[in-house]
Amino acid sequence: MSSRPFRVRFAPSPTGYFHVGGARTALYNWILAQQHHGTFVLRVEDTDEARNRPEWTDGIISALEWIGVARGTYEGPHFQSEYAASHIDAAGKLYADGNAYYCDCTQEVVRQRVGPNKGYDGFCRQRGLGPAEGRPLRFKVPRPGRTTVVDLIRGEPVFDHDTIEDFVLLRGNGTVMFLLANVVDDMAMNISHVIRAEEHLPNTPKQQLLWLSLGAEPPIWAHVPLLVNEKRQKLSKRRDPVAMEMYRDEGYLAEAMKNYLMLLGWNPPGDAEIVPWSLIELSFKLEDVNSSPAFFDVRKLRAFNGEYIRALTVEQFTEACQPWLTGAKALWPVERFDPAAWATMAPLVQTRVEVLGDVPGMVDFIFGEPVVDPAAWAKATAAPAPALLDDVIDTYEAIPSWTADALKSELEVIGTRHGLKLGKAQAPVRVAVTGRSVGPPLFESLEVLGHDRTLARLRAARVQL
Ligand code: GLU
Repeated sequence: MSSRPFRVRFAPSPTGYFHVGGARTALYNWILAQQHHGTFVLRVEDTDEARNRPEWTDGIISALEWIGVARGTYEGPHFQSEYAASHIDAAGKLYADGNAYYCDCTQEVVRQRVGPNKGYDGFCRQRGLGPAEGRPLRFKVPRPGRTTVVDLIRGEPVFDHDTIEDFVLLRGNGTVMFLLANVVDDMAMNISHVIRAEEHLPNTPKQQLLWLSLGAEPPIWAHVPLLVNEKRQKLSKRRDPVAMEMYRDEGYLAEAMKNYLMLLGWNPPGDAEIVPWSLIELSFKLEDVNSSPAFFDVRKLRAFNGEYIRALTVEQFTEACQPWLTGAKALWPVERFDPAAWATMAPLVQTRVEVLGDVPGMVDFIFGEPVVDPAAWAKATAAPAPALLDDVIDTYEAIPSWTADALKSELEVIGTRHGLKLGKAQAPVRVAVTGRSVGPPLFESLEVLGHDRTLARLRAARVQL
């Protein structure tokens, strides 16, 4: 590794929800900064005025905080827009040193000259044009030549300059292009390692040439693998569930989320995938990151999250559920939340949910009035449900002790009388009382709900038959 102070940065463009791939890049940078006692810099690349919005920046900062990259523990946020003058200065220096030239070819003219989908042909390289409105400034790629980049994940890829066009540094309207702004900021911020998404690999030889032309030693690079969906397509904001904000809102645990993100391209030592964060922090190495695309498997993430939920103590689980029990995400008026009923239900619910957002649907029959799902009801009440419910109502009405065990053994007896196994006999009772066909164990649920409310719901349901 380089001998400079270890300084890495995460440089998102705030043009939408915070992408899971961005969060993984941030974590990789973050962990390495910790390991090297270096600095993690957050730089918001907000120069695309048409697309960036302050709320996207806030979303990034708060989602980073959620996964443990907390404000105050990193340098920044810096905002790229504040450094516009230095980007222009750098462009001026490249021009003054003969490393850049102005060009007056329109795209149309270039296309006619070189054919469609070909890069710029260097037509204006020797024309000595000065700056003027509408003329982009292009970098003079040294020719012939080759650039080798040192990439800790991809080895030392070599790029022949024949494959690199004289790329634009300043647009015709004088605004700076990403390639240059990004390098100028990295130089100003003394970034030693640029760790970022694979999609920037083709930019790297261009950017390394800029570093050298501006008189600085290039950083060490690392391009982390692409994330793909089950069809091996690159994850897209439009098609795939990629927003960190959404995962947080649906009740994924930060610990599960961040561990899962780390696994996209890297494995902790040993066979286990669920390992303490402290082990991840100690053992993560860029050199061990795989260069091939990583499958972002939402089903696996869900199951993974379920395991993290089950590993909580009941107290921690209850604490994590608060927004869904007594906060803005509750499905019932919050004053109807009953901590004692919850205390009984919590362990039963905890083993059955994969995300916290599933919790309200498991207990809304206690804290609210369930709306019976018509499909579940139709399925559960095929004959002999009316006669069965009559029996259940009569028996439960008079049951001497309202306990899960007693409720269960009575239903077993009734079921046998109607030629039904317990599972089938339970179905109409469950839908009548909870509104749904699945949920926490039925008899414990009835015990918590109590005699009067259970019977009122059974009667109301019976009337519908
Ligand atoms: N703003 C760029 C992006 O979000 C950052 C590229 C980089 O990390 O160099 O893709």
